Amino acid sequence: MTVMYCLLKGKYESNWIKCMKIATTPRVLYYHIVADKFPEIYPNGISVSNFFRQLGQLKRRGYKFRSLSEVLANPKKFNAKDIVLTFDDGFSANYPVLMYLGKEYNIKPTVFLIGKCIDNKEMAWNHKLLLMKRYCSPVKLSAQIDNYVPGATISSFFSRIEMSEKDTVTDFLWKEVMPFSESDYLQKHKPFLSLTQMKSLQKAGVEFGIHSWSHPDFSRLIYPEAYTELDLCFKQMEELSVPCKRYFAYPYGRPAQNEIETRLIKNFQLSATFGISYGLGDNSLPYTRWQRIKMDGRKLTNQQQFLLMPWLRSIKASRFNFF
Ligand SMILES: [Zn+2]
Repeated sequence: MTVMYCLLKGKYESNWIKCMKIATTPRVLYYHIVADKFPEIYPNGISVSNFFRQLGQLKRRGYKFRSLSEVLANPKKFNAKDIVLTFDDGFSANYPVLMYLGKEYNIKPTVFLIGKCIDNKEMAWNHKLLLMKRYCSPVKLSAQIDNYVPGATISSFFSRIEMSEKDTVTDFLWKEVMPFSESDYLQKHKPFLSLTQMKSLQKAGVEFGIHSWSHPDFSRLIYPEAYTELDLCFKQMEELSVPCKRYFAYPYGRPAQNEIETRLIKNFQLSATFGISYGLGDNSLPYTRWQRIKMDGRKLTNQQQFLLMPWLRSIKASRFNFF
């Protein structure tokens, strides 16, 4: 009885220590768009003035901005008062702000790039879907979706489509419903960072990590598919001679199965992967999984996310792991 009590007490206490760690480790914030004019390809984001208001408030409350490489090199040195800024997808709308952060604030954010989108070569399937929704009537789009994925609707398309078919099917759909080609749109609007912009950002201190090649849901990939997604992306960065850290942010924050992630970390020597949920041990050594907090929503939501999320997540993690 005593032995059982001690064992349970030990397990309980060590889990609580891990939970506390979740809530007290550095906060990694993420944004998609910080701009005064949001691009059609991703029409949600935060205005430049609200973004700098956020940074000002954080600074006044004693938070310090760190680069991801600084934090990952020695996570034990930092705590919840240390903040890392990250940006997903590599949108060009963020370019002025990213440059300004480096030069004027000495903040070194990390940009997670989608390999196929770099330099406006292609769009990812989720961007194509967003544009199709904008330019095509829901009735016409629904009818076409039903042709390719019988029974699927605009809203269920994401979960119904096989990840191995997502690009082929969205390309077919685009040809059927869009009044212009993908390349014409990219040429005209240039929604993604160009190579020249990336090189300037790198000189200004911005770090680059990867966000996969084609933005799939990794929770639905088998290992060879997940491997190819990272391999193509790292090779692309090498070919372009843009220094790239061994960081990988999961699209939609949805991680691969643990066994797949372990193999990816080993094969690509990843120093960290990034999701948006929490498990015991995340954001602390020796674990490689880090979790981020979304900060480009409404003001109140951002505040809740920032202040409460680490604690709520730690409670959630404890519920699933204590018993
Ligand atoms: Zn993304």
